[in-house]
Amino acid sequence: MNPFDLNRALGRLLGPADPEVGCEVCFEELDRYVELELAGEAVDTAIPGLRAHLVGCPACREEYESLRALVTAD
Ligand SMILES: [Zn+2]
Repeated sequence: MNPFDLNRALGRLLGPADPEVGCEVCFEELDRYVELELAGEAVDTAIPGLRAHLVGCPACREEYESLRALVTAD
């Protein structure tokens, strides 16, 4: 099994999460992500892979946390 197939197999095991979410996509979708999350929507379905990115990326996580604090402070 080559690494590409292994990735695909793992992606299937881990669900629909898109492994291609990077910082750019993350920053683009962060507003929507926080809105959906606070609205109680299924954010992992709406924006697959973003949560995984936030968990693994301290910079985006910080951005997410300050955005969330800003929105909930309203
Ligand atoms: Zn990031």
